This record gives sequence, structure tokens and C-alpha cells, in this order.
Amino acid sequence: MAKFVYAFSEGNKDMKDLLGGKGANLAEMTNIGLPVPPGFTITTQACNTYYDKDQQLWPELKEEIFSHLKALEEKTGKNYGGENPLLVSVRSGSKFSMPGMMDTVLNLGMNDATIPVLIKNSGNPRFVLDAYRRFIQMFGDVVKGVPKANFDAFFDKIKEEKGYEFDTQLSADDLEIIVQGFKAIYKEGVGSEFPQDPKVQLLESVEAVFSSWDNNRARIYRREHNISHKLGTGVNIQSMVFGNMGDDCGTGVAFTRDPATGEAKLFGEFLINAQGEDVVAGIRTPMQIEEMNRINDHLYPDFVHICDTLEHHYKDMQDIEFTIENGTLYILQTRTGKRTAHAALKIAIELVEAGFIDKKEALLRIEPEQLDQLLHPTFDKKALREAVVIAKGLNASPGAASGQIFFEANDAVKAAEEGLKPILVRKETSPEDLEGMIKAAGILTAKGGRTSHAAVVARGMGKCCVAGCEAINVDESKKQFTHKGKVYKEGDFISLDGSTGYVYEGVVGTTEATLDEDFETLMGWADEVARLKVRSNADTPQDAAQAIRFGAKGIGLTRTEHMFFQEHRISAVREMIVAQNVENRVKALDKILPYQQSDFVGIFEVMKGFPVTIRLLDPPLHEFLPQKDSEIMALAKELDLSFEDLKDRITALHEINPMLGHRGCRLAISYPEIAAMQTRAIILAAIEVIKKGIPVLPEIMVPLVGHKAELDYVEAIVRPIAKKLMEEHGVEVPYAFGTMIEVPRGAITAGDIAQTAEFFSFGTNDLTQMTYGFSRDDAAGFINEYLDKGIFTVDPFVSIDPIGVGLLMDMAAKQGRETRSDIHLGICGEHGGDPSSIKFCHSIGLDYVSCSPYRVPIARLAAAHAALEE
Ligand code: ADP
Ligand code: MG
Ligand code: MG
Repeated sequence: MAKFVYAFSEGNKDMKDLLGGKGANLAEMTNIGLPVPPGFTITTQACNTYYDKDQQLWPELKEEIFSHLKALEEKTGKNYGGENPLLVSVRSGSKFSMPGMMDTVLNLGMNDATIPVLIKNSGNPRFVLDAYRRFIQMFGDVVKGVPKANFDAFFDKIKEEKGYEFDTQLSADDLEIIVQGFKAIYKEGVGSEFPQDPKVQLLESVEAVFSSWDNNRARIYRREHNISHKLGTGVNIQSMVFGNMGDDCGTGVAFTRDPATGEAKLFGEFLINAQGEDVVAGIRTPMQIEEMNRINDHLYPDFVHICDTLEHHYKDMQDIEFTIENGTLYILQTRTGKRTAHAALKIAIELVEAGFIDKKEALLRIEPEQLDQLLHPTFDKKALREAVVIAKGLNASPGAASGQIFFEANDAVKAAEEGLKPILVRKETSPEDLEGMIKAAGILTAKGGRTSHAAVVARGMGKCCVAGCEAINVDESKKQFTHKGKVYKEGDFISLDGSTGYVYEGVVGTTEATLDEDFETLMGWADEVARLKVRSNADTPQDAAQAIRFGAKGIGLTRTEHMFFQEHRISAVREMIVAQNVENRVKALDKILPYQQSDFVGIFEVMKGFPVTIRLLDPPLHEFLPQKDSEIMALAKELDLSFEDLKDRITALHEINPMLGHRGCRLAISYPEIAAMQTRAIILAAIEVIKKGIPVLPEIMVPLVGHKAELDYVEAIVRPIAKKLMEEHGVEVPYAFGTMIEVPRGAITAGDIAQTAEFFSFGTNDLTQMTYGFSRDDAAGFINEYLDKGIFTVDPFVSIDPIGVGLLMDMAAKQGRETRSDIHLGICGEHGGDPSSIKFCHSIGLDYVSCSPYRVPIARLAAAHAALEE
């Protein structure tokens, strides 16, 4: 029979799949002798079985749970629901930590019968009633779905009536009133009395944890972080310790290093006389961790020692949750701490220097996507000096954000959909706000510390966050905040500096990010191990320069048509398109030639001999033409044509299905003079730059080839022109001639095509579109349905579909190499910047990937990961 329940002493840290991260680490800490309250874990397999069994707990599982509960009673010398009452918590925990996603219920085992016993045993009625009201609220909210706000409102009302500022001021009598009130709220919300049977409390809580695996918040989080819906969650049942028994008690959170900067300094917060998530929820502003010694002398040194032990043991920065009960410390959780990209680099490098891990491990610890945070602009120093400061909060998660303020997560989501940049402003955030936080450009909260929900989640997402900005007064219902009498309303612009905690009025100017030494060090290590080279897609000298700064080793795609849209040029381009004969078309092309040539000169000069792949004209011609009558009229005038003639020509170019229409090499075949002009521009630019003493390596790339004969036809245009120009100028230009592989027929006849092509570049946007038959301009809507319904786990336009599209790529690469052993292979589709696609490209032996400039560092690290994970 399968084993579904493990005592903490039976597990270890490598059992995350089965026990979840929290359970595996509780087991590990138990085994290395740390003070962990005893308990047991119900496996993730049990969770999956629960879903297989139509969401019912089955008898054998219940039996197994109760036999472990019995062992726990023996161990603690207490009784669940009995004489010397054992109280437990029920905590969820899946393989990957999902902060705030799954809900914990504390203080199970309390009921009207155990309360007097607990009061007698502890001599502390205030504490017992405080724990009971928390239990009723958590059970009501988490297990039964009674809105937390209903409880909070009653709680606040009593506090206000009594004129208290803090929850710690409530007396036992006040708490008795709150317990009774909460029971009534529970009954009203659920339709039955609060359950008195501790076994019912336990089983219903276990079920709630299992169900919470599938709630909306958890699904959104998993989707955002690419975590499989199939993992399931574990459930941890643990005997309670209490941080709310008085002033020698407390609860808190600590990181073994600063999660924002990476500085090797214990970083944490705690609250005296508090329980559970009070610190994270921002109930009171917490104290710094060092102040623990106010309770007793050995507490802080003991804690530092435990933190060191855990960091040594896990060889990484840990995020630790602890509780102090009557001066004794208990550790309730440890996990790898979430950190900003900046901190991640610093910590990884310092751990290598300390000899904890090697360079490979350091590289593998950094998620390529995380680097994205480092590459974006920061506030311009000068603009900051001139900006008007509103207030200063805690620098909870670094970054610079300017945008419009919104007070409800839903409003922020809507604003983002309308293309605005929302800044979510709240008193404090909770898991319900997750989607709004994802969509927000930045987050500002009035309450809560650096370990509050807002701060933790923002750091995990690499999003700018200023937390605990107590100087502002947020009124979510009025959709405004005030500061010193001034009102800031929904839609007003503000700027947040997550690195300093300052909040500014209006939009503050930004500058390019500067990359620090840690970044260069780590990228250097990445390049040492990567086999794939990283190039960038760039259409302008500016983009090319940015790509070089980020470490690109060439340009994998220059889209010549992007240059056509610029002012002055577009009219020559239009003239070329509407030309009715070759002579007029050539005349127009002659006007475009110098523009193209000067663009290429600029790019070649920046790239200094790195390869530059230039794609010949690709899009359907109608994209360059006006569609509105008024614009057509104006163009007709400009070109000295009649409105009707021009309109006829535009109508003639109209296609039902332009993506499968007259585009790519098909244009060069109909209008060879276009390819001829582009070849001239490329070769003349190369000659010009070579003459300046700068090496050049152009690669002329023909798009959309499905048949070798198409490529041959274009080659017969390109090569003679190139040869003639080189002879005329007496300059040898080293260049390559090749093709994109983006039409399925091209992929399956790649062996033929390689007879002509010296290189292939996989155009995976089109290849995915044509392999699936999904129009990529129309697919976004229904692919979302596919994702929601679990038909796809990832969008094939984001990550290469390794089975279908990938098979074509693999086949083409093999055939290409068979025909031409030194054929050069790369990818220039959007996938070239996606880490999992990069891994795939590595696996089929491509030579390089090409992506947008800002993804170059991500691709370099992903290429290193691909090599290391091989
Ligand atoms: P999360 O994953 O959201 O941190 P946890 O399961 O860790 O949720 O529970 C939240 C908090 O509840 C813990 O940090 C701790 O303060 C408190 N808690 C959980 N179990 C116990 C327990 N057995 N005794 C005392 N406090 C507990
Ligand atoms: Mg927590
Ligand atoms: Mg926790």
C-alpha cells in the first residue's frame, strides 16, 4: 500500500517532489537537530490522488493521518482534543515555494471544551482567547471561504470602540467578545456552527489545502512562474508553538543575507507577542531582528548561529520563519530566499569566493530571465534632483517606475490592458492582488515591512516596490491617497524608486542601466562554458551598439524593411511599389539605394567584423501603402498619378491571406530589381567600411524559401552583382549567401537547399505559424484558451514546440550538415531569446541564437545553462 504520510523524522531536503518544499525542509531541519516543533507531512501524491478521487478524502488516508497524529500525541505528551490539549497547524507546501498562495490554518484543536483547560494550563486567558479568535477567523476564511474582511471589520470595530491603537491592547474580555462575534460571523457565512470536533477541524483543513492547490491565485502564480499544475501540494501538520503568549514571545522572518542588495548581513524583522503571518501582513510595523535580545541575552546569538548553520547546510541564502515561545526559539520554516537579480549575482559570486559552491553551480543558480531586471533603465540622477519628493518608504524591491496610480488590483489590470502604466497603491497587498501586481509597473504600500507580502512578491517578480510608506494616507474606497493635505487621485502620475524608497510626483526621466562588475564577472563565466554563440536582432546602428554592450557576437537578423518606413524613404518605397514597369521601379529603387547603403555602413562600423545577417525584403508590399482614401489622394498627388489609377494598383495588391501570399523570396522573384538594389547597397556599404580599415562580414539572407530553385534564382541575381562591384572597386568583400528556414517544405528539403545556402537561420515565428497552421496575428486569443484548458502548457510562439516544430528544425539541421559539413546554423525568431528554446537549439547543435538586444545577456546565460545541464 502506498505511503501517503511521513513524520518529519522520516524525510529529508531531497524529497521536495513528494513532501513539498516546506515539508522536505522541516524534515531536514529536524534531522540536523534544529528546534522544529514535531509534526508530519501528507504527500503531494495524496493531493493528486485526492483530485483523482473526485476531491474526497478516502478512508485509508484518514487512518494514516490519525495514526501519525497518535504518534505526535505520544511524542508531545499531549492529547488532540483531550485533557492536555495538543494544538496543531495545517500548512500547505508544494515543490516550489509560492508565497502567500496556499493558506495556513493555525491553532487547530481549540474548541469550547479545550479553552478552559488551556486557560488553566497556561494561566493566560488573553493568549488563549487571542489564539481562538485567530483560529475561528482562519478556519472561516481559508476553509470555508467566509470573507476575511468580515472578521477584520468586526475586529477593527471593537478596537475602535475601545480606543486602542494596537491589537496587543485588547484584553481577555475584549477577546471573549471578539470570539463570540467571530462565531456569529462564521455561522452567518457558513450556515452552521463553528465545528467543535477537532477531527473535523483537521480533515476539513487538509481538504482545504488540497483544494487551494487549484484556486485562481495559485493558478495565476503558477502560470506566471511556469510551474506545472500537476505537481500537487503537500500538507504539513505540526504541533503549535506560540508567539502570542506575552512579551517574552514573538514571531518573525529573517533572510541570511539582504535579499535586495545581496549584502552578507542578517536581515530580518519580528514582532513581540504576535502569531503567524502578523509580520508579513503588516499588522504593526515590526522591529529589527537585532532587537530580539530585548527578550533575553542568548536569543539573538542563538538565532545567528542557527542562520549560519542553515546557510552552511544549504549553501545558499535562506529565508527563515521562526517563533519565540516564552523565550525559547523555534524554527518553523527555511527555504531558499527569493532575491533581486542584483542580489542573486552578488550572493552567487560571494558563495564561490567562500568556497561553498563552484562557478558552474553559481551560474545554474541564476535564472536567465532574472537578468532582465538589471538591463532596464534607472532614474536619471539629474532628473531626480529636480523631482518633487512626496514621501519616503522602505526600499523593498529595487527598480524605477513611473506611471499612473490605481488603488484596486482590478483597476490596475484594466489600465494595463488599455496600454497605461499602472502603479498599484494600497494600504497593504494580499494574495488577491496578485494579478494587479503582475500588471503594475510598480507597487506602493503604506503599511508592512521589507518582508511584507508586497515586498516579497515584488522582489520575486523583479518589480519595483516601495513598502511601508507610512507618511501617505491611502483611502482605497475613495481611490486616492493624501499626504500633508495634498490629494493624489486615481490616474495621477507618480514615480517610485525601489532602490531608495523615494516616491516622487509626476514622471521622472530615466537613463540606461549601468552594468556592474558582478554582472561582467558572471557573464564571463557564462561565456566560458557556453557552446552556442549569442547574436542580436538589430535594424539600426543604435540597436547594434546596445547589443554589443550586452555582449552580442554578431547580428543574426537585420530587417531591411524597417528602414523603409522612415520619413523621406517611404515615398520612394511607395513610388517603387506602384511603378507599373521595370524602368520606373528601377528609378525609384535608385532613390532608396543610398539610404540603405548608409544604414548598412552604420551597422558594419559598429559591428567591426562580427557577422551581420541581412535579410532581403520580406513583407507583403501592401503593408507599405496607405489604405484611407484621403491618404491615397495625397500620395496620388505626390506621385503625379490619378486617384483611380493608384487606388486600382492598391486594390490589385490586396491579398486574402498576405502572410501566405506575395512576400519573402517571392517578391525577389517577381521584382528581381529589388534584390539587386539591396545587394548593391550591402556590398557597396561593405566596400566603403573596408576602405576605412574596418573588417566586415555580411551574410545575405533570403527569406521564405521552400524550394531550392527559389534560392537559386535569387543567387543568380546576388552573386554576379557582388562580383562586379568588388571588381569595379578592387576590394574583396568576404560575404556569405544563405537562407532562412521557415517554410515546412524548406525544412524537409534542407539537404537540397544547402547545396546553394552557405548558412541557415531558422525563422521560428513563421515556421511555428506554418507548421501549426496558426496565424500568428490571430492566434493570441485562442492560444490563451488552449493554455487555460491545459491543452498547451506553453505558447508555441513563446517556446519552441520541441516535438513538432523542433523535429523539422532538427531534420533540417542534420540534412544541411550532410550536404555541407561546415554549414553555419542559427535561429533568428523570437524564440532565440527564450531560455527553454535556447536549450533546444543547443541540443540540435545550432551555432548561434539571435535575439533582441535586451535579451542578449539572458541568452548568454541560458546558453551556459544548456551546456552545463547537458
Ligand atoms: P507560508 O508558506 O505562507 O509562509 P506557513 O505554513 O509557513 O505559510 O505558515 C505561516 C506562518 O504560520 C508561519 O510563518 C508561522 O509563523 C506560523 N505557523 C505555522 N505553523 C506553526 C506552528 N506549528 N506553530 C507556530 N506557528 C506556526
Ligand atoms: Mg510566510
Ligand atoms: Mg511560511
